[in-house]
Amino acid sequence: MNSEIQQLKSFLQEAGSAVIVSHENPDGDAIGSAIALARMLKELNIESKVWLPGRFPAYYRWMSGSDDISYYSENKNDIVDHLKNADLLFALDLSSVSRTGKMSETLSHFQGKRVLIDHHINPSYDEFDLVFSDITVSSTCELLFHLLDLLGILPKMTKEVAEALYVGIMTDTGSFSFNCNSPVTYEVVAHLVKTGVSPDRIHKMVYDNNHENRIRLLGYALQKMKVLPQHHTAYISLDKAELKKAGSQPGDTEGIVNFALSIKNIVLAAFFSVREGEIKVSFRSKGNFSVNDFARKHFNGGGHYNAAGGSFSGTIEEAVKRFESILPEYVHELAACNEQLS
Ligand code: 5GP
Ligand code: MN
Repeated sequence: MNSEIQQLKSFLQEAGSAVIVSHENPDGDAIGSAIALARMLKELNIESKVWLPGRFPAYYRWMSGSDDISYYSENKNDIVDHLKNADLLFALDLSSVSRTGKMSETLSHFQGKRVLIDHHINPSYDEFDLVFSDITVSSTCELLFHLLDLLGILPKMTKEVAEALYVGIMTDTGSFSFNCNSPVTYEVVAHLVKTGVSPDRIHKMVYDNNHENRIRLLGYALQKMKVLPQHHTAYISLDKAELKKAGSQPGDTEGIVNFALSIKNIVLAAFFSVREGEIKVSFRSKGNFSVNDFARKHFNGGGHYNAAGGSFSGTIEEAVKRFESILPEYVHELAACNEQLS
């Protein structure tokens, strides 16, 4: 890490401006790390612009700095100029540039240095000049905190930056229910709280700000859930018409998959929905069943060991059928995983 930090220091010393990007369907970790990095770069006299592939859910819009974010889905032109003028490109919370979706083509023309800060399995080292990858940390926000510490600029951290980092740690650990066994995570959180973060308030802002339709959609989804006890699996699918009928908004389906996983003796959960013409699948698992491997092998995706995603070309019914047809291959692995947990 030391030589990488020296390299990052020299990149930062030579840079006047930067572009910061993160993945499609941005989550709390993507948004939080991007906002925090942009603010901290300013402390180093580096102007930066955050570009995300598309809009994020309303329950993150209270975050300070979120109004300054630009969206590729709404404005494909300005990013070209920003990239032309930037010396550095930071990619956060993604393992490969392809995770920025359609924005990846535009990013491929970038001429300056590329830096990755991420915690997913199998980062694409070839795509970057400098990679900070740690799959053992809770979140990209936690990893960014450690980098800011190593750069010696933590004392410049404001309450707003600390809040942004806290959002990423809280959401990527499911409010401290997974990927949170390291005492270091709590040392980081303690520092953030000392900087003025109110965990009570942030939890309420993110999780207790739902519109009624979202909770009713959750009820509908749970009614529809299919449980396959022989495969210790539960899944839910929601097609376009169902989402429309529920009056759903972007982000409304986040977290539904966790309810399926919360059932006793269920070790694999999946959630299928339609996004931009393709089927998007979320996978979650308990214990030693790798949904990263599963998503990579069967759904052109990846992610973390117990939380991954992927996609499928075809109808939602075909995606579900494919999923069900694969499960018998894993019958012993799923049973053994459940056995170990019980
Ligand atoms: P979610 O199910 O919440 O969308 O994503 C769970 C995890 O899997 C996240 O860490 C996310 O970055 C990753 N992920 C989601 N979709 C994809 C995908 O299509 N490809 C890859 N490689 N990772 C994904
Ligand atoms: Mn993350």
